[in-house]
Amino acid sequence: MTTALISHPDCYEHVTPDGHPECVDRLRAVDAVLCSEEFMHLLRAPAPLAEDAHLLRCHPQSHLDRLAAAIPQAGDRALDSDTFVSPLSLRAARRAAGANVLAVDMVMAGEANNAFCATRPPGHHAETTRAMGFCLFNNAAVGALHAIERHGLHRVAIMDFDVHHGNGTQEIFERDGRVFYASTHEWPLYPGTGAAHERGAGNILNVPLEGMSGPDAFREAFTGQVLPALRRFRPELMYISAGFDAHARDPLSTIQLSERDFVWATHALCDVADEFAGGRVVSTLEGGYDLEALARSTAAHLRVLMERAG
Ligand code: ZN
Repeated sequence: MTTALISHPDCYEHVTPDGHPECVDRLRAVDAVLCSEEFMHLLRAPAPLAEDAHLLRCHPQSHLDRLAAAIPQAGDRALDSDTFVSPLSLRAARRAAGANVLAVDMVMAGEANNAFCATRPPGHHAETTRAMGFCLFNNAAVGALHAIERHGLHRVAIMDFDVHHGNGTQEIFERDGRVFYASTHEWPLYPGTGAAHERGAGNILNVPLEGMSGPDAFREAFTGQVLPALRRFRPELMYISAGFDAHARDPLSTIQLSERDFVWATHALCDVADEFAGGRVVSTLEGGYDLEALARSTAAHLRVLMERAG
C-alpha cells in the first residue's frame, strides 16, 4: 500500500503581498523537496476543486458569497490585516479544500493507507463565517465532515500541531461530538484562543505551550494529554493539521522544535490510527514560514507516512 500526495499548480496562483510569510515560495520549497527520488513512489493525484456542497458542510453560502465579492480584478485585497486575496485565490482555496476531499476518498476506499495534501492557502484559522490568519476555507474541517457525511464515519480526530491555535477548527466543531479536536500551540501567540479551559462539548483539548519551551514540553504534551485523549476517543480516521511553524528556524514562533519532533509526533499519531482507524491518516499542510525548515519538515513527515503505509 501507499501514501497519496495531493496537490495542484493552482495553489501557486494565490498571491500575497511582497514579504508576506504565507507566500507562493512555500509551496515551491515543498514541491522541490518532494521531487527527489526517495519520493518517487508516492501516489500523486491532482487536487480537484471542492464543490459548493463540500464547502457548505462547514461554511454558509454567505461566506462563499462574501469571499467571491472580495476578489479583486488585479493585485491583491486585504480581508483583514494579514489575510489577502488575489484574482485566483478562490481557485487555489478550492483546490486546497478539494485535496482534502480527495484524500479522504482515497484513504476510505483503500487506494492509499494515508495521504498528505501539499496545498495552500492553509485552513485552520478559517471559522464558519470568517476568513482570517491567511486561511479562506477550513480544509481539515471540510475533509473531516466529508469523512462523516459521505463515508458514514462516527468519530474523526483532528490533531493540530501547528504552532498557532486552530481557532477555526475549534469553532466549527466545538458543539459537534463527532469530531475531537486537539491542539498544541505556543501561548501567548496569534490568534489568542486555545486556553486549556476551552473544552467545547468535551471534544476539544488545548495544550498551550510557553515560548522557548522546547521539544520536551511538546512531547510531554503528547504523551501526557494528547495521545491519551485520542485513545479515549477511538477515532475512525486520524486527521493531522500539519503546520511546521513550531520549528526552531521559524520566524513566527519560539517553541524550538526540529524535524525529529515532527517525526516523533507523526509516528505517535500513526500509532493511534493503527490501533483504532485501520491506519487511516489524512494530513494537510497548515503553516511553516521558514522555507528550509518547512521543506525539511514536510519531507520528514512524509517519510514517516510512507514508512507507516508499508
Ligand atoms: Zn501557524
